[in-house]
Amino acid sequence: MTVTEHPALTGFDEIAPDLADLYRDLHANPELSYAEHRTAGIVAERLTASGYAVTSGIGGTGVVGVLVNGDGPVVLLRADMDALPVREDTGLDYASTETAVNADGDTVPVMHACGHDMHVTCLLGAADLLAKARARWSGTLIALFQPAEELGDGARSMIDDGLYDVIPRPSVVLGQHVMPGPVGSAFASPGTAMAAARSVQIRMFGRGGHGSMPDQCVDPVVMGASTVMRLQTLVSREVSPTNPAVVTVGSFQAGTKENVIPDEAVLKVNTRSFDQHVSDQLAEGITRIANAESEASRAPKPPEITDLNSFPLTVNDPDATRRTLDALRGLLGADKVLEIGPVSGSEDVGDLATELGVPLAYWFIGGFDVTDGKPLPSNHSPQFAPVVRPTLDTGVATLVVAALEWLGDGS
Ligand SMILES: [Zn+2]
Ligand SMILES: [Zn+2]
Repeated sequence: MTVTEHPALTGFDEIAPDLADLYRDLHANPELSYAEHRTAGIVAERLTASGYAVTSGIGGTGVVGVLVNGDGPVVLLRADMDALPVREDTGLDYASTETAVNADGDTVPVMHACGHDMHVTCLLGAADLLAKARARWSGTLIALFQPAEELGDGARSMIDDGLYDVIPRPSVVLGQHVMPGPVGSAFASPGTAMAAARSVQIRMFGRGGHGSMPDQCVDPVVMGASTVMRLQTLVSREVSPTNPAVVTVGSFQAGTKENVIPDEAVLKVNTRSFDQHVSDQLAEGITRIANAESEASRAPKPPEITDLNSFPLTVNDPDATRRTLDALRGLLGADKVLEIGPVSGSEDVGDLATELGVPLAYWFIGGFDVTDGKPLPSNHSPQFAPVVRPTLDTGVATLVVAALEWLGDGS
């Protein structure tokens, strides 16, 4: 039996060609975080057509559709809508050639390099099928489409803008993410699931001048380089070896020419951890090391350290997650659904659940053909491109089956 022959997927074959077209359209028209206007418009129109009571513009571009169908649990299904400033290099005929102006005023390429176009398409498909199959279940279904997952605060923006005044309190928050992995597989970590992440910018000040006269200058390149190296000791020398942590300096910008010592250097640092205490420890360490290295280099003034973004720790409810995985085993087969440990990626879906203290079950689905044994592109890669079908089939089916696990299935 293929996933779409599952009784809960009645009607999928009729809507599948349209959903595949929608996916390719969203892929070709990606929008940056908080600029998901076109996507949100499509979402609102389709949810309305499927019979949902729709509210748009929550937390910027967020959209929710509510379908009340008798007494019972309230199930919230979540998708994220934003794309990334990445230049697509997939060679697909529906590849993005879009550019957009980012928050700094720079024109950047835009690509759905994290699969959020697939999340939107799958949730619209699942919402439509569940609305058509309302005789099979009882309760309330919420389809939530959030902005700005990539910035770590799109869910928070919706909450702060009154999300939970508009929708009822969910009994459970469910969501999924497409990942490198065989299509038809699903995997999740019951308990701590994804890392807390934080990004900061460190602007270090030197005194520029001629490259031949370093004694007359304060060199921010050496200052920055020492900082990059010293920051690595946070994980190797300060955090307990039993606590995983990551410190990555992903950007180091300074200078324009080999014989000019610049005035300043700008570092961008990203940290990951699985414990709030470790997260705080890394934050303190970054500030201490940046200040100390500036002082060691005779900087004319202390560095400026600014927060760029942060992601909460994602913690799955163990019972709700195992219950979901069991339901997915019934759909995909026991050997295709794995219980895994925490991953070092980050997400903000957890905010939707922790805000109200309700359980979260968040899982991953594979979206790639692995038969040729080639290495798979990771999320955020310019080559990230799930196979449209059957990833779409699986992604719709997993949402429908997971939702029905709570809402009941009379079949
Ligand atoms: Zn991403
Ligand atoms: Zn993502």
